[in-house]
Amino acid sequence: MIKLDANELPWDWPAGLKADLFNEAASLEFNRYDDCLVPQLKEALARREGVSPDQVTLGNGSDELILNFLLAFGLGRRVVFPAPTFVMYSECARVLGLSVTKVPLLYDFQMNARGMLDHLAQGSGVCFICNPNNPTGNLFDAASIKTVMDAAYASCIDEAYYEFSGVTLKNEVLQRDNAIVVRTFSKAYAIAALRVGYAIGSKSAIEKMERVRLPYNMSAFSTLAALRVLSHAEHVTQAVSVILKERDKVVRGLARLGLSPRASSTNFVLFRSPGERTYDYLKENGVLVRCYPGEPMLDGYLRVSVGSPEENDRFLHLLEGGVLG
Ligand code: PMP
Repeated sequence: MIKLDANELPWDWPAGLKADLFNEAASLEFNRYDDCLVPQLKEALARREGVSPDQVTLGNGSDELILNFLLAFGLGRRVVFPAPTFVMYSECARVLGLSVTKVPLLYDFQMNARGMLDHLAQGSGVCFICNPNNPTGNLFDAASIKTVMDAAYASCIDEAYYEFSGVTLKNEVLQRDNAIVVRTFSKAYAIAALRVGYAIGSKSAIEKMERVRLPYNMSAFSTLAALRVLSHAEHVTQAVSVILKERDKVVRGLARLGLSPRASSTNFVLFRSPGERTYDYLKENGVLVRCYPGEPMLDGYLRVSVGSPEENDRFLHLLEGGVLG
């Protein structure tokens, strides 16, 4: 199967770097509750981001940080976010028994800021804003995001695709005690299986996040891996630049086929499915993409992750020769 359904990077870490990591991991004491690598990872991220280590918290994937944000700021409050968006905001709210309001995106997939403000009800609700948004792929207007942040009791800005968009609301978040930016090592850093995410915020916001963090939530092995991939940033930069070129190729290819690809600031592309059976047809031919049954706004759309050059060629070739041929 060519997996183009989960927005992962198509390349694993080079075997040599993995072997170095395994060697180094051999000296970790597996019998100990030792999270001495956690301060090191916080320190490394803080240095890179120009903040202090107490402005960084770590999660077992950014999914855990989404849950922790609700535990820290959202209990007893309404949870408001644009829709369609990343599914974990509603999943985590559901698990915690919180009421959710989904504010439909506007026709061009921009955020309906006025609708968000109405539902945040004078600062009583918390909000998630996925920027760029998954699955539509676009960035929201920064001024609108700030207006929504001003109105919310607390805000979580999800920048899972930051390395592809190059756009961050970090500076706005740092000025507030009720907002965080959440990022992940699962996409551009290519260690989705190891589950490492991080959040940045003011000291006061991060202190609240730290209060709900479970002790020893970070595996020592994963923390070590994150430290090592951070120190090999050149691989990440190189991979991101190939993906961005390939994304343009995929967008051009889909446009040529008349499939209305949406402009993307991420490593995936939303496009119009040429037929009802396209998803099945691609799957039967070994290519897995994402479909959205039960999501009226995405009726007739599919989302494809940008893969390796060969994978993208195969995907475009199938569309060209199959459903359209
Ligand atoms: N946020 C967004 C917008 C995502 O698309 C994803 C993964 N699909 C996540 C968070 C979760 O990533 P992680 O692997 O860090 O839990």
